[in-house]
Amino acid sequence: FLEGRRALITGSTSGIGLAVARALRAEGAQIVLNGFGDEGEIARLVDELDAVHSGADLTDPDAIAAMMEEHGPVDILVNNAGMQHVSPVEEFPVEKWDKVIALNLTACFHTIRLAVPHMKQQGWGRIINTASAHSKTASPFKTAYNAAKHGLDGLTKTVALELAQSGVTANCISPGYVWTPLVENQIPDTMKARNLSRDEVINDVLLAKQPTKRFVQPEEVGALAAFLCREEAGNVTGANWSIDGGWTAQ
Ligand code: NAD
Repeated sequence: FLEGRRALITGSTSGIGLAVARALRAEGAQIVLNGFGDEGEIARLVDELDAVHSGADLTDPDAIAAMMEEHGPVDILVNNAGMQHVSPVEEFPVEKWDKVIALNLTACFHTIRLAVPHMKQQGWGRIINTASAHSKTASPFKTAYNAAKHGLDGLTKTVALELAQSGVTANCISPGYVWTPLVENQIPDTMKARNLSRDEVINDVLLAKQPTKRFVQPEEVGALAAFLCREEAGNVTGANWSIDGGWTAQ
């Protein structure tokens, strides 16, 4: 059902973004990948998905504009690139704060403002933002991430209202813990911040939040993103979809 649609998925060389790209490709969308990584691995993904790739650094607004110009116009925009930094607030490095906000929030504003004119003009578009359970609730030591993700929820709702009668929807998907490099890489700092072992971080911090006691699979997020692109989802807008094993039900 996405034949003839072009989808840009930011941060799609790894983890959730890659799974979303695979899910949209499976429905026929033409894929624009974005993100960093090993050149050979990216070439393999481009080949697998019959895609193109932009290596734009999304913390740089000029690079975002160049990417949108080169690879647009897009019919489906998935703002997914994100990063985490774990530290007590009083020790939180100022440059990390700026970077997390730039990538997880400001980049989404730029891609949206540049994608919307085409979507509005053709009367169809899908904006899907990967937020997080941390767009609805907080955990300590993640000030920048939680602020950015709460902000992304607000950005999404506002855009949804502005575009409500234009055939363009805007929604957040909010996963709990998904087993990806982003989660794996925060384990050492969380061990340090909380003085815990690796197993304690996994079982007593990460999965403690998730009543299902299992990590969300990237493919499960991909399936939800594909659903939001369907015609039947045309009246789903301004929503923030949890896929968190019951975390935010508590
Ligand atoms: P990941 O680390 O596996 O992938 C991140 C992607 O973003 C990679 O493709 C990377 O190259 C790209 N990226 C990083 N910095 C970039 C930059 N400056 N410019 C362009 N691309 C950049 O992470 P993931 O776990 O798949 O996370 C994807 C999204 O899902 C993020 O927004 C994250 O906050 C969110 N999320 C993840 C989880 C989880 O448990 N993994 C939970 C909730 C929300």
